[in-house]
This record gives sequence, C-alpha cells and structure tokens, in this order.
Amino acid sequence: MRSISLHWTGHDYERVFPAYHFCISRPEDVLVHHTHDLRENMRDVRLDPERPYAPHTRGRNSWSIGLSVAAMEGATPSDFGAYPVTAAQLDALCRVAATLARFYGIDVAAVRTHAEAALDDGYFGAGDDQLRWDIARFQPSAAPLERAEATTAGDEFRRRIAGLLVRG
Ligand SMILES: [Zn+2]
Repeated sequence: MRSISLHWTGHDYERVFPAYHFCISRPEDVLVHHTHDLRENMRDVRLDPERPYAPHTRGRNSWSIGLSVAAMEGATPSDFGAYPVTAAQLDALCRVAATLARFYGIDVAAVRTHAEAALDDGYFGAGDDQLRWDIARFQPSAAPLERAEATTAGDEFRRRIAGLLVRG
C-alpha cells in the first residue's frame, strides 16, 4: 500500500461501511472495525473497475488505504449536529494510521485527508452531496469554510502521526 486517506462517514456513531478498510465507531470507548479487505485495493483499480475494492476517495483508490471515523451525520461547518467527531475518535484514527503506515512503509506525507484530495481534484466544500470536507475542521465554527483549512488540518494529522511513528 502506498497511501492512506482519512475520512468521516457522514453517518451516526454506529454505522460502518465497506467503502473504507477500517472504521472507528462510538464516540468515547471507540471500536476499530475491519470493513474491507486491503488486498482488493492492492492494484490499479482503474484497470478493472468492476472488481470489488473500497471506493473511499474518488480517483485515488489504487494502492490506497481508506480509514474513517463514524460521525458527522447532518453536519455542516458551523454545526456538527448530533454526531460530532470526537477527540477519542481522532486519536484512534491517528493511531490506526500510524500502525498501518509503519507496517506498509508508507511515508507520513502520503497520509492525507479526503478534503485535501478534494481540494486537488476540484470538489472541496460543504453543503452539496458531491462536495467533500472530511476532515478539514475539528470544531464547528460560524466562519466560512476556507480551502486553507484542508491543508492545515491535514498538516495537524501528519504531525500527530509522525509523532506516533517516532515513539514506536
Ligand atoms: Zn471521505
């Protein structure tokens, strides 16, 4: 595997999905679920798109691991709703990412949020089903969602994951 993509599900704290390889459910006493076989993304999925794989990030699923926290149903940048992403979930997300990065020799620079991919590929944003902003903001804010937040949040994830890699 060559990269890791970080997501939220956009559903409640319980539902997990095979569009990702691992999902982290529950807000505090979190559970890590294996939801898709990594081997199905260990190929150029575009060469045979009919074969099953975890379709977590548009156009970027080949040799790529998808991780997701179960949260953010009905969330907007100003109101995270009834299932806001929690500190415990984000901590678990970083730990799972660090474990997989170490095992597969993935450079921390190749750990990116869906929001960063969406920024690069022209579909970053909120309020439209085709737009993506996971995970560009950790707390709700009335301030308009800015493109720079995707990079800032991604940098924060990479800083934390790099710290876990150093500590082993
Ligand atoms: Zn996503």
